[in-house]
Amino acid sequence: MKWSKYFLPTIKEVPTGTEAVSHQLLLRSGLVHMLTSGVYSYLPLGWRVLSKIENIIREEMNAAGAHELLMPAIQPLEIWQKTGRDKTLEEVMIRFKNKKGTSMCLGPTHEEIITDLVKSFVQSYRQLPVTLYQIQTKFRDETRPRFGVVRACEFIMKDAYSFDTSLEGLKKNYDAMYAAYKKIFDRCGLKPIIAEADTGAMGGRLSHEFLVPAPIGEDKAKDEDGIEHQAIEVGHIFQLGTKYSEALGAVYLDEQGKQQPMIMGCYGIGVSRLISTIIEVHNDDKGIKWPQEVAPFLVEILPLQPSDPEVMGLAEQYYDELTKCKIDVLMDDRDESAGRKFNDADLIGLPFRITIGKRTLAEGKVEIKNRATSQVEVLPKDAAVGRMLALAGK
Ligand code: ATP
Ligand code: MG
Repeated sequence: MKWSKYFLPTIKEVPTGTEAVSHQLLLRSGLVHMLTSGVYSYLPLGWRVLSKIENIIREEMNAAGAHELLMPAIQPLEIWQKTGRDKTLEEVMIRFKNKKGTSMCLGPTHEEIITDLVKSFVQSYRQLPVTLYQIQTKFRDETRPRFGVVRACEFIMKDAYSFDTSLEGLKKNYDAMYAAYKKIFDRCGLKPIIAEADTGAMGGRLSHEFLVPAPIGEDKAKDEDGIEHQAIEVGHIFQLGTKYSEALGAVYLDEQGKQQPMIMGCYGIGVSRLISTIIEVHNDDKGIKWPQEVAPFLVEILPLQPSDPEVMGLAEQYYDELTKCKIDVLMDDRDESAGRKFNDADLIGLPFRITIGKRTLAEGKVEIKNRATSQVEVLPKDAAVGRMLALAGK
């Protein structure tokens, strides 16, 4: 991507009314735009981060044997009345009447909807177990939307649901999700504390929360040394049992031909919340330091004098060669001062930066800088692409 033709509006000043560092950096580096309190657009750069996170989640969920589907956000209230959650979730549920006068809501979560769906297709123990998931927009009328996309009223969640015929089966699925979650957060550059938690409004038998230590966290979590941290909840998994299947009549016929309620688990990740959490953990006074796997682009090429044919020629050459090797490259070809470009590069925080300047190039050299470690390598111009590929693990 060439910056001059991209839609990447960076902001120099700290936006007013923002307490969290991640919220400031989210806005300043052109990742999101607030429409109204708790409601955000993802700009092209933010959308790329979101897609990278979603793909990591997809890979790990698919590897764990879950199948992706997509359920609707518009839902009849009637289905929620069957479990009584039209009452327990009343505060956050966004409700309205459609033209026919039917009471509807925008889904704050999907246990009822998936249970009804699976009930429609599964009759026999032979069709179980099954785990289904989606990456989808949730709506919650939060009392205090906060910290950018940490607590929003419209946000993206990954929600998975498992259906089993036995408690052993549920435990196996739960363990598989637990392991997948560890891999997902690790690939996102996060080390959550995993804590047994309350099952709350969800109900059920057992649950674990994945909590990332951060000053803006609204939860508390004790680490291995027993030290308590403020922490952000990025994921929550539940062994639900039969609460939803009994309320909605999701039954199957067992080997003896006897009707049994399906045994369920549910597993959530705050996909959009992860963007803020990653920034909250990976930043310095200059900007974001994206972990490689979730970075919107891996490399920024920075030609300091775009009007110089030699400088720009080499920048274009690197751009083409790296792009051919399937590396996501952003080239700052804007006609801006070197100072402005360096500041913006640190702000948007891509893992690597290749700087091409007239003076160093006169000696046949260019610079590669690692954003996370601040390490700078000066190397012959013909070695830069090879080195970059090695750094990218290619
Ligand atoms: P919280 O306690 O933070 O309100 P929750 O326990 O109500 O969250 P769940 O219903 O378990 O949330 O949802 C699964 C995941 O979705 C949470 O672990 C969290 O990461 C994310 N999430 C929940 N509410 C929001 C929100 N308002 N904005 C962004 N992400 C959210
Ligand atoms: Mg929770």
